[in-house]
Amino acid sequence: MKRVFVQSFGCRASQADGAAIEAALEDESFAVVRSAASADVVVLNTCTVTASADVDTRRMIRGFHRDYPDAEILVTGCYAQRAPQELAALDGVRWVVGNTHKTQIAQLVSQGVEEYHGQIVSGDIAQETAFRATPVRGIRGDRTRPNLKIQDGCSNRCSFCIIPAVRGRSRSATAESVIEQVRNLARNYSEVVLSGINLGRWGRDLESGLRLVDLLRALLRETAIRRLRVSSVEPMDWSSELLELIARETRLAQHVHLPMQSGSDAVLKRMFRKYRTRHYATRLQLARSLMPDAAIGADVMTGFPAETDKEFRETVDFIEAQPFTYLHVFTYSERPGTHAAEQGSAVPLPVRHERTHILRELSARKQREFRSRMIGKSLSAVTLERPRTALTTNFLNVELAHGRAPNELLDIPISGVTEAGLLEANPFPIL
Ligand code: SF4
Repeated sequence: MKRVFVQSFGCRASQADGAAIEAALEDESFAVVRSAASADVVVLNTCTVTASADVDTRRMIRGFHRDYPDAEILVTGCYAQRAPQELAALDGVRWVVGNTHKTQIAQLVSQGVEEYHGQIVSGDIAQETAFRATPVRGIRGDRTRPNLKIQDGCSNRCSFCIIPAVRGRSRSATAESVIEQVRNLARNYSEVVLSGINLGRWGRDLESGLRLVDLLRALLRETAIRRLRVSSVEPMDWSSELLELIARETRLAQHVHLPMQSGSDAVLKRMFRKYRTRHYATRLQLARSLMPDAAIGADVMTGFPAETDKEFRETVDFIEAQPFTYLHVFTYSERPGTHAAEQGSAVPLPVRHERTHILRELSARKQREFRSRMIGKSLSAVTLERPRTALTTNFLNVELAHGRAPNELLDIPISGVTEAGLLEANPFPIL
């Protein structure tokens, strides 16, 4: 039996793809192993959202080939879709499989096609109209919260983003398949995370006319899942109806993530984002007024082409004024083939990094303030595989007073904060 090691990089959708590749390999009678050292085939499921993601992938490939020269390497994912020749040229790479053919990996490897280096299996992702994914039955390793991809691709054209070119237009899993998978996962897991590339567009390509909020209602009604978390939804898709449902339903995690990218209207316009700061702020304020203790997070990008000091300052001021509890801060990276990369006016790298540093500090301060507010409250949380750790409905880690089995849903009294999370009040303190 051939042994395969799968390593995934990048976003939640990519992690979900990695789990699906593992499941498909097991169905084809491969043994999925936890270390490349014992593998006959190494599958690298890549990300290409930044130049440094590409550098990491190439470094990984060189490292695997050096350390395990007998293992065959298969590269798939977004980098494989964007620049297959670049990857096929690297020593040790036997197959390069684009996102168009990702669901055929298990068959490709088992067929043991003609023996030659750097075989490229890829097609035109723009032609994809169907949502393709191997159903996720569970998760491996030490994680407790399965990540279920229910939507792929994106039909927007944000000027910095390579994703539409490597994942194609927006496509959704059917409501029936999502309900069935969540029903199955609920037998073993307390929390399931719903993810997608542009999750708020779920259903728009289906004939049913259902929207994400309808799907959530159906999942609450028709499955026994104890907690569902919505991973990230574009700002204008956070409808009042969706926010109100999350605020009302304790089985939905009190967690609202809205990619922001910039707090400057001029930059948002150059990014081809569909909203301006005033629209964004209305969604954020509504979320906070409905859910005073919810996690509210955003992705922010620094150093977009021609971003001036003044524009960056607008972003800082906007963030200061909003009730964020955390930020994911990214440094802009030119992606060949995107509109922004062809515009010139690059912000010098040291300036980009300095701006990233400033926003990360600001995010850390907002996080600390939010965590302090939780002292004395009781928070619903799911215990994780990591010893004595739970994740709250509002996306905070809690250090538990004593060990508990993973996948329990509990109400936890909070007595303090730690360096990165919260502390459970100990009912039996050692005196
Ligand atoms: S919404 Fe914009 S940033 Fe997000 S995946 Fe689509 S094109 Fe990229």
